[in-house]
Amino acid sequence: MFVFVGIRTIRSAIGDGEFHCPACGGDRRYRKGAGRRRLVVFGVALIPLGRAGSGVECAVCCTRHDVAVLEALTARALTLLLREAVRSLVVAVVAVVHDEPHDADVVRAAAVEAVRSAGMPSYDACTLAADVGAHTAQDTAWALAEIAPHLSVAGREHLVGVAARVALAGGAYDPAHRVILYHAGDQLGLGRARVDHVLAGP
Ligand SMILES: [Zn+2]
Repeated sequence: MFVFVGIRTIRSAIGDGEFHCPACGGDRRYRKGAGRRRLVVFGVALIPLGRAGSGVECAVCCTRHDVAVLEALTARALTLLLREAVRSLVVAVVAVVHDEPHDADVVRAAAVEAVRSAGMPSYDACTLAADVGAHTAQDTAWALAEIAPHLSVAGREHLVGVAARVALAGGAYDPAHRVILYHAGDQLGLGRARVDHVLAGP
């Protein structure tokens, strides 16, 4: 006589949201589910055997991941953090400009362009002026601390480079600009030599 015995995992959805799927490589919806195991005899789930653990399933490719995958930022969240880091850093650069009015205008225009290029096309001189008026060094420190763990060395150098080009738009680095850029390098975990290299670049 054959007795068909097995273990079946019954999953139920306990939440959903957006995550970055490492399997199909994009921001996707996910379904988070928890499982319970049952001893099955002749196709009938008879005896509960406890929890099977929770997982996350991609709504596009259906790959199942451990819930730890939710700790990674989505591309959308990363883009927003990077945009805010660029914005805060170039605002810091503009805030210390005390040169001739013409140089200040050029630096401000470069700052507006940098923020637009970072993903905020509506950014303009009025918004920059408001940002400069409200700026504190702590704002920049927070913005850089948020993005730093998610950027490669090249990404961190690029961020300092964006601010450096804004500072250089006035013709030369102001000593106050160097203080800001080296401090930003420290906050991003870049050594002084790497910041020197960025500041010497085009
Ligand atoms: Zn996927």
